[in-house]
Amino acid sequence: MKISPEILNLIPYKPGKPISETQREYGLKTVYKLASNENPLGPSPKAMDAVKKALDHQNLYPDPSHYELLHTISKLWGFPTQQLAVGNGSDELIDLLTRIFCEPKESVLTSVAAFNAYEVSAQANRAVIRKVPLLTNYAFDMKGIADYFFAHPEENIRLIFISNPNNPTGTHATKEEVEEFLARLGNRDDVMIVFDEAYNEFVRAEDYVSAQNYMGQYKNLIVLRTFSKIYGLAGFRIGCMIAPPEVVEVFNRVRKPFNVNDLAQVAANAALQDKEFIERSQQICWKGLDYFYKKLEELGLPYIPSQGNFVMFDTLRDAAQVNEALLRRGIIMRPILNYGFKTHMRISVGLEHENEVAMAALAEVLKEIPLYNKQ
Ligand SMILES: *Cc1c(COP(=O)(O)O)cnc(C)c1O
Repeated sequence: MKISPEILNLIPYKPGKPISETQREYGLKTVYKLASNENPLGPSPKAMDAVKKALDHQNLYPDPSHYELLHTISKLWGFPTQQLAVGNGSDELIDLLTRIFCEPKESVLTSVAAFNAYEVSAQANRAVIRKVPLLTNYAFDMKGIADYFFAHPEENIRLIFISNPNNPTGTHATKEEVEEFLARLGNRDDVMIVFDEAYNEFVRAEDYVSAQNYMGQYKNLIVLRTFSKIYGLAGFRIGCMIAPPEVVEVFNRVRKPFNVNDLAQVAANAALQDKEFIERSQQICWKGLDYFYKKLEELGLPYIPSQGNFVMFDTLRDAAQVNEALLRRGIIMRPILNYGFKTHMRISVGLEHENEVAMAALAEVLKEIPLYNKQ
């Protein structure tokens, strides 16, 4: 077999450990998963009702034009449908954008510790990933990323991914940084700027701005949204893109005709209009984050204030050992060794009692495991 070296060397994205697998491996009945930034409230109830009603016509192929969903998004977000597209999760959008804009050996630019899907997609599409180091506060170095672009014309950087807020760090780029970045890189013909705003609805920072506010000003700007987080539809696999009409047109040529299944379209359409659920999801996130901050302070563990529905913190211990000890107690958190952090973990906000059980387990585990000697 001859397999291309980029594919052979591919390190696949490692999702959070599933509950069923943890139950099997550790012989546990009760397992709490706070590992994948999912919505702990479940799917929006309106989405569930809509899905139940749609079950009886699943013998039919889904609408390949996503007509109803795109019109709902258009109405709510204020963009014409020609500027909107949906995919099988943001995952598919990221992958196809890379395929569309990068020739083999051309580059994708992002930050160190950016959402890992950008790197996996770059490699799978034979592009090269380039990463600019984080600032000391773990935020993206927006100025550094723009500087890097101009300093490396030979790398043929065709796409820049900015996750704002970022996962796993929970940090955000400020309005001032976003505006300066766009002023320097906006409206270029040779590079597309993608703001992945999966956690947009959870942001509390007053100096945050969504890049969607600048869509009218820049023709090389794309914004990604997902239904996996605040809308509680991760299992349905659906994400959305706001982009210039030319990009949407090309995207629709490249994507599979039935990339988003009917139940996902129906669920997203209903969830978008479930304002009460969205507000409840925000409240539970913010309350949970504040609880985590308080507990982590009590435990003496440094954390990065988060604009997402999760927080990254330093266990000051070998995170692999901490993770193992937590799993034995039925708590799935997320070690982030694959992002280069040996002592950090990420915990997603769960229901109140899940958060409490997780923090109690963490407190016990810390007593068992020695401090990490960084040398
Ligand atoms: C969770 C997440 C997404 C969502 O991915 P889907 O494929 O839509 O589930 C996108 N970007 C970031 C940064 C995320 O953390």
